[in-house]
Amino acid sequence: MRVGVMGGTFDPIHLGHLAAASEVAHHFNLDTVVFVPAGSPWQKADREVSPAEDRYLMTVVATAADPRLIISRVDIDRPGPTYTVDTLRDLRDEWGGDADLFFITGADALNDILGWRDTDEVQRLAHLVGVTRPGHTLANPGLAPGTITLLEVPALAISSSDVRARVAEGAPISYLVPPGVESYIAKRGLYRAGLTGAAAPTRRATS
Ligand code: ATP
Ligand code: MG
Repeated sequence: MRVGVMGGTFDPIHLGHLAAASEVAHHFNLDTVVFVPAGSPWQKADREVSPAEDRYLMTVVATAADPRLIISRVDIDRPGPTYTVDTLRDLRDEWGGDADLFFITGADALNDILGWRDTDEVQRLAHLVGVTRPGHTLANPGLAPGTITLLEVPALAISSSDVRARVAEGAPISYLVPPGVESYIAKRGLYRAGLTGAAAPTRRATS
């Protein structure tokens, strides 16, 4: 099995994530791409992130129609901050030693890679795939050649931050996120707080 791994906060998942996953799947002839919503992303400690279950359900809704795309709860179900090395260890346990893992990262996140925990083990566990992202320069952040591939993907200048800000302003998000995700955001009242870059206050179905 050749398995792509797309980690992210997915707050919310948008078409930029899906286009990148689809292009990497095509280029590397992957059997599947696993989306792994982060539990509590340590890079995003400065803002309130939407509840994990909302982010998880949005990735489920967004990928439901594509048989190549699946979701893993490993990061959501593991307590504590999410580190890529733990994600890859858990997926390796789940998929067994025969699976080749390809960890997909946008150009912006790739630039932080040397700050990731256990970069050497990350590289042992997965082949890294850096993909282009508008507004960011795609470059090897100093990893050994052969452990990383830089790949151009269709340029979609979409970010979750922008989607959140648009919802807060009442601007349209159709064609930036899948229709089901747009409906989910409206139904749950996400991102309406009016603070750019901040998620809506946590609202639980039971409260
Ligand atoms: P935020 O604005 O909240 O940081 P985001 O749009 O960057 O959200 P993340 O969940 O942080 O989304 O990103 C998950 C992964 O997807 C990262 O590796 C990121 O670089 C990549 N990614 C996000 N948007 C795009 C895009 N438009 N094109 C290519 N890669 C992307
Ligand atoms: Mg991001």
